Amino acid sequence: MKAAQFEYQPAGSTAEALRLLANAKPIGGGQSLGPMLNLRLVRPGKLVDVSTLAEARRCEQRDGGYRIGGAMTHAEIEDGALDELLRDSPALAAMLRHVAGGIAYRAIRNRGTLAGSLAHADPAADWVLAMNALDASLELASASGTRVVPMSDFMSGAFTTALSEGELLTGVLLPRLSAGMRWGYVKFCRKTGEFAEASAAAVFDPEQGSARLLIGALDGPPALLQQLAGAVAAQGSSAITQQACLDAVASVATGKDEAGNWQLAVAVKRCLQQLAGENRS
Ligand SMILES: Cc1cc2nc3c(=O)[nH]c(=O)nc-3n(C[C@H](O)[C@H](O)[C@H](O)COP(=O)(O)OP(=O)(O)OC[C@H]3O[C@@H](n4cnc5c(N)ncnc54)[C@H](O)[C@@H]3O)c2cc1C
Repeated sequence: MKAAQFEYQPAGSTAEALRLLANAKPIGGGQSLGPMLNLRLVRPGKLVDVSTLAEARRCEQRDGGYRIGGAMTHAEIEDGALDELLRDSPALAAMLRHVAGGIAYRAIRNRGTLAGSLAHADPAADWVLAMNALDASLELASASGTRVVPMSDFMSGAFTTALSEGELLTGVLLPRLSAGMRWGYVKFCRKTGEFAEASAAAVFDPEQGSARLLIGALDGPPALLQQLAGAVAAQGSSAITQQACLDAVASVATGKDEAGNWQLAVAVKRCLQQLAGENRS
């Protein structure tokens, strides 16, 4: 099937994009929207291309942390475009490269954007989980100004976000992490290039006393496993047992059956082992 007819307009500036979005839908890399257009799941009369906006491509230090332009593509991040910005936190840079490199396959990563992925809010999406684990906030611009929404409040359900009509996700704000931060990221999918069936992400920063552990690919937003994160931060590797991971998964509503929860628990265990330096494969 082909998409219904639509008008396409690249936006030259954020102000122009926001003006045009009063009667249009934004398109980033088109890697999720394209298939939806072709299947006629959406039929916008007009698309405004926001993938080249200077504002959405700017990456910089901001308020003691980092601001990553929403139009950065998965491939750019995979190739280390943020390494220089994140030179004080090479582990964070490595985590972002790892997450980006595991999304779909290269042709999709070449076009797909960080903002497009977050705005699409597929529960199995990699950035949705990773940015939650990193305690990121999102910069949302509209004709009436800019607001910042924590990632934990952004996605309220599958494909449902805090974005209002005409609002644009322009950037992702990451808090600064110390050089000693540790991370784990595990995604299970049947074959490389597919969405996750089960996923887990952990970001611990011992210097700052923070420990975040989440599971993804649920039927809604990622779920925090705070108790297990606290236990591992306090006790180290001895707290990483299959039973502890199963109990942690069972303590949240995953929407999965027993086998699905088991798969999640294995993802959690491997993610924590990776974080602890036991399993970097
Ligand atoms: C075969 C296949 C496999 C994939 N595998 C994975 C995977 O393993 N992991 C994964 O995470 N993703 C995967 N994806 C999705 C891919 O990462 C997309 O790039 C991403 O979901 C959408 O990004 P985009 O820039 O292409 O957004 P688009 O497709 O252009 O837009 C998606 C939605 O976001 C809106 N939007 C876009 N940009 C903005 C913005 N700046 N502000 C507000 N709204 C905006 C659009 O209006 C649309 O509703 C896969 C896709 C395909 C086709």
